[in-house]
Amino acid sequence: LTLLGLPAFARGQALAVSPFSAQVEKQAAEMRRKMTLEEKVGQLVQFPNGGTRGPDGKGIDQNELVARGGVGSLMNPPDAGAVNAFQKQAVEKSRMKIPVIVAMDVIHGYRTIFPVPLALSASWDPGLVEKTSRVAAVEATSEGIRWTFSPMVDIARDARWGRIMEGAGEDPYLGALFAAAAVRGYQGKDLSDPTSMVACVKHFVAYGGAESGRDYNAVDMSDRTLRDVYFPPFQAAVDAGAGSLMSAFSSLQGVPASANHDTLTDVLRGEWGFRGFVVSDWNSVGELINHGVALDGETAARKAVTAGVDMDMGSGLYGENLVKLVRSGKVPERAVDEAVERILRVKIAMGLFSHPYTDETRSKTVLLAPEHVALARRAAEESFVLLKNDPISGGAPALPLADGKTVALIGPLADSAGDMLGGWEGRGQGSDVVTLKQALAGRLKDKLVYAKGTEIETDSEAGFHDALDAANRADVVVMALGESRGMTGEAASRTKLDLPGNQLKLLEAVAATGKPVVLVLFSGRPLALPWEAAHLPAILEAWFPGVQAGPALVDTLYGESNPAGKLTASFPRSVGQEPLYYSVMNTGRPVNPGNPYVTRYIDELTTAQFPFGWGLSYTKFDYSPTKITTPAAHVKELNGGAAITVEATVTNSGARAGEEIAQLYIRERGTSVVRPIRELKGYQKILLKAGESRLVRFMLTKRELGFWNIDRKQTVEPCELTVWVAPHSEAGQSSQMTIAP
Ligand code: BGC
Repeated sequence: LTLLGLPAFARGQALAVSPFSAQVEKQAAEMRRKMTLEEKVGQLVQFPNGGTRGPDGKGIDQNELVARGGVGSLMNPPDAGAVNAFQKQAVEKSRMKIPVIVAMDVIHGYRTIFPVPLALSASWDPGLVEKTSRVAAVEATSEGIRWTFSPMVDIARDARWGRIMEGAGEDPYLGALFAAAAVRGYQGKDLSDPTSMVACVKHFVAYGGAESGRDYNAVDMSDRTLRDVYFPPFQAAVDAGAGSLMSAFSSLQGVPASANHDTLTDVLRGEWGFRGFVVSDWNSVGELINHGVALDGETAARKAVTAGVDMDMGSGLYGENLVKLVRSGKVPERAVDEAVERILRVKIAMGLFSHPYTDETRSKTVLLAPEHVALARRAAEESFVLLKNDPISGGAPALPLADGKTVALIGPLADSAGDMLGGWEGRGQGSDVVTLKQALAGRLKDKLVYAKGTEIETDSEAGFHDALDAANRADVVVMALGESRGMTGEAASRTKLDLPGNQLKLLEAVAATGKPVVLVLFSGRPLALPWEAAHLPAILEAWFPGVQAGPALVDTLYGESNPAGKLTASFPRSVGQEPLYYSVMNTGRPVNPGNPYVTRYIDELTTAQFPFGWGLSYTKFDYSPTKITTPAAHVKELNGGAAITVEATVTNSGARAGEEIAQLYIRERGTSVVRPIRELKGYQKILLKAGESRLVRFMLTKRELGFWNIDRKQTVEPCELTVWVAPHSEAGQSSQMTIAP
C-alpha cells in the first residue's frame, strides 16, 4: 500500500532543501567583498538579449555592458553561440569575471512542447510534471538557458483570468505538489549539473487573485486566505529548493508585490528561510510609478530593493539609480550587498564559474529527441479530461469511436498546428506538431472527411455548407472547437467563457443533422458550455496538448488510451458564477434549496457544470463508504505529529482496465474561524484491472488539518471532522469523527 499524493511535507516533516551549502554562502560573501559598488549594482540588472536601450534611455552596446560588469543576467538569447559570445565578455573581460545567468520563459517545454501547465495538472501526476520539466531543462540548457521563469504557481479561481492556463488550477494542496515537482524537474539532482536549470517561482504573490479576473488588477484578500490558499505552492517550491522567485505586477492589500517588504522579506526570508534571489517581473519596478507609490524611478528602485527585490528585470532603474542612492545614504549598502550575495550564491551553486560555456553541439541530439516526443504524447494523454460520455440512442457510449466508421472531422482547431502549442511555446514550432487531422488521416485514410467549418473568431458562415456536407457523408462527427492560443495567457482575460466566434452556431447546425457529435475542446481555461453539456453525447477536454496533439487524441478517441484526467479548475455553468471554486466557505445560509433566502442566484445554480476533480473514464469506478480507522483523536497529539487514517475501497466495475484518481476531502466545523465546505487533502491515482478492487488509505496530520486560526497560528483545533473519499469534489459518502481538545 503506497501513500501516493502524500509527499514528505504533507506528512508534516520539514523538507527545506537549501540548494546552497555553507561553502557556497561563504564564497558568495567573499566575492561580494571584493566588488565595487558599480559592480555590485551591475549584478542586479537584467536585460533582454539584444536590448538596445540603456538605463539612461541612450543606446547601449551589450558587449561593452557585459564587459564592464554592468549586467548580471540576460534574457532570451537566440542560441548557444550567442550565449557563449557574451559569456566570454563576462568571464574574460570583466574585472570580477562573474558569468552572466541566462534566462527565458521555458514554461511547458523548450522545443518539445508539452501540454500547457493547466492541462498537465489535470493528470494529477506531479511525477509527470517532474519529467516534463526535466526534459525542458535538458533541451533549454543545450542552448545556454540555465534559468527559467517557471513554474507559475499562482492559485487561480477565476476562469476569466487568461493566466489560469499557466498554473495548476484552483487548489492549494494540488498546487503545492505540482510546484515542488516542477522545481525538482528543472533543477535536477544538483544545480551544478550542466542540464540543470534554476527555477523561478512566480508570481509572488497572489497575482492570480486579480479582481474580476482582469490581468494585472489589484488584489485585496485577507491574510487568512493568503496563508491557507495562496502561499502553500510558493512555500512548497521554496522547500523543494527553488533558486529564485519572481515578484508580481499586482498590488496586494494596497502594496505592490514588487515593493512588499512583508511578503518578500518577512514571510519569504524570515518565515520560510528562502536563501535564493528574487527578480522583479518585467518592468514591475518601473510600474511602482504607475501604481502611484513612487513618483520617480529613484523612489521606485529604492522601494523595490529595500523590500527585497534583488534583480531588476527590464526597467533599468536599478542600473540608473542604485549607485547614487547608496552614495547619498538613501539606500543602505547592506541592501545591495544582500541582493548581490543571493544572486552570486545561485551562480556559484550552478557551477557557472567553473563551466560558463555551453557545449554548442549538444542541442542537435537533444532537441525533439524521440524519448522527449514520446513523453509529450504520454503527457497529452494523461492530461485529457473526458467531461461527458453518454450512450448514443440507448446503445454504446459515444466514445471510444468504433473502427470502420466514416468520420467527419470539423472545426478550426482540427488542423491548426500553432494553436496546439498553447501560449509561451518556448522554441516550439508549428512544424513540430502533428495535428488531429494529420493523425486521423493516417488512421482512417479515405474514411475521413474534413471541413474547417469556420474560423475561431469570425461571424462568417461561408464554411458551414461544407461542414454540413461532411457531416452528412459520415457516420459520426468529431468537432474540434475552442479558443485560439492567443486567447489565454498573459493579458488575455475574457468576460465571456463561451466558444468564441460562431463556433456554437456551427456546432448546433452540425448537431441538427442528427449525426452523433463528439466535441474535442481546446482551451487554456474552463469554459461555460451549457448548450454543449446538455445536447452533445460526448465532450473531451484536450486543452492545448503540445507537439503530439494528434496522435494522443487519436489514441484516446479510439480507446487505445483510456482517459483518466480530472479537472483542477471548476467549469462554470455561466460566467456570472466566477470566481468559481469548490472549496468555498461555509456561510450562514445553506446552498440552493427551495427557500429564497439562501445563498444562491435567482437565475442559475451555484454548482459547477463540471466540478473540480471531475473526469470520466471508459470504465466505471465504484466507491465503498469512507471509513475513519483511527478510533480517537486529540488536538495535542495531532499537533505533535499524530495522524488520523481514512480509507475506502475503489472497484473497477467496468469491462476494461483504467486509472482512477481517488480524492480525499475534509470539512472542519466547530472551529474558531469559518472553514471551507470541502478541501482536498490527499489523493491516489491507481490503475485497476476490470473487476479489481483496491483499498486506498490516507493519513491526515497537522499539515492537512491545520489552518490559520483566530490567533493567527497554523494549528489543528478541536472540531467535528467530516471526510470523504470520492471521485470528485461534489461526490462521496462521508464519515465523521470528533477531534477532541
Ligand atoms: C510575465 C512573466 C514573464 C516575464 C518575462 C512578464 O510579462 O508576467 O511571467 O516571466 O514577462 O518574459
